[in-house]
Amino acid sequence: MPIVVQKFGGTSVGDIDRIRHVAKRVIATKRAGHDVVVVVSAMAGVTDHLVGLANEMSDAPHAREYDVLVSTGEQQTVALLSMALQDAGFPARSFTGAQAGMRTDQAHSRARIRRIDTEKIRLALADDQVVVVAGFQGSDDDGNITTLGRGGSDTSAVAIAAALDADVCEIYTDVEGVFTSDPNVVPKARKLDRISYDEMLEMASLGTKVLQIRSVKFGKRYGVPIHVRSTFSEKEGTWVVPETEMMESLVVSSVTYNRNEAKVTIHLLPDTPGVAAQVFAPISEAGLLVDVIVQNVSREGHSDLTFTVPREQLAQVLPIAQKIAEELGAESVSSDDGIAKVSVVGLGMKDHAGVAGRMFRTLSNEGINIEMINTSEIKISVVIREKYTELACRSLHEAFGLGDAPMVAEEH
Ligand code: ADP
Ligand code: ASP
Ligand code: MG
Repeated sequence: MPIVVQKFGGTSVGDIDRIRHVAKRVIATKRAGHDVVVVVSAMAGVTDHLVGLANEMSDAPHAREYDVLVSTGEQQTVALLSMALQDAGFPARSFTGAQAGMRTDQAHSRARIRRIDTEKIRLALADDQVVVVAGFQGSDDDGNITTLGRGGSDTSAVAIAAALDADVCEIYTDVEGVFTSDPNVVPKARKLDRISYDEMLEMASLGTKVLQIRSVKFGKRYGVPIHVRSTFSEKEGTWVVPETEMMESLVVSSVTYNRNEAKVTIHLLPDTPGVAAQVFAPISEAGLLVDVIVQNVSREGHSDLTFTVPREQLAQVLPIAQKIAEELGAESVSSDDGIAKVSVVGLGMKDHAGVAGRMFRTLSNEGINIEMINTSEIKISVVIREKYTELACRSLHEAFGLGDAPMVAEEH
């Protein structure tokens, strides 16, 4: 029988009534003749609450115990949804990540999936059960509970779909699909019928949280069709597909933002060969992620070096930056967490000039100062003051005509 994997996010399972509603959708799929594996998140707000408790208990929560704690949210939801299905007359069985055979490495709170032993899931499906799996979690080879990082249930779902060779992985969420920009920030955002894996990867890497980036990587690698759609409507959502299946190649297809970054500046760093390597090597050795980097023009043999890191890593990066600054004889180190990164993304940008110009002009017309710039073949990112995030997204969305008919690139 064809297998469908359905993932429901936190808002979709936010209370008892919503879990009952999810059960109805699962039953409809089962009735249509599919084997169904459901992957669920914790109820809305629960994971944040658990993370808060861990941070209240300890300044540096022990990694293993942190995962034991934050994984409990999903365990509540699998049990509740299985009860709802059983009460409606449909045999269902809940599985923790470990019980479902999700084997990961030992990197607590950011574990990577090594393999999925699907035997237990397959046995339950063969027994005509609906399989309900806790997302976001797995276990290492010693049986320790691990978690996959925030938003990780998306990755659990697509990985399970790949392992079971499912027909589709449906990602049910609180919006109707993937939009040209966050519909909660840009009211005129337009739903995309299709988006390529590569564009979705770029959007996810730039902060669009509708899909966790690793889920898109799994989808691309194993060819899993991903259908992002709303829990609360029957409408078709957005299909994430290979680029060759795309109907149109857009110059700019979306505007994204990421508020979760902070900026670090090392002032008056001696401008000699090897300095950048000396600055960034210890930061990456500590497992910290540097994103945008800008070095100012050298003045009298010194220059300022500015870079961004995820906001939650700022406290770890600063002492390292201070130490390097002292060693290298720089003047000082400063930081700023009031920034946001706003990006325009589009596969068609590869062969189109003028996107950067239009982007910078639009921001300048709104009086928004650009603090840093970063480009790749298919995106341009700028760092601005965080308070201008909405204004920047809306005006760029308008400037690139994303709310109306798509801007289609010429054939060549
Ligand atoms: P879930 O709890 O279902 O996993 P998330 O909150 O992780 O849901 O992701 C859905 C949210 O992603 C939406 O509510 C929306 O605000 C946000 N989002 C940001 N950018 C986009 C976009 N381009 N298209 C759709 N949703 C987006
Ligand atoms: N509950 C986890 C989180 O909030 C995983 C997820 O929802 O995808 O990050
Ligand atoms: Mg999510």
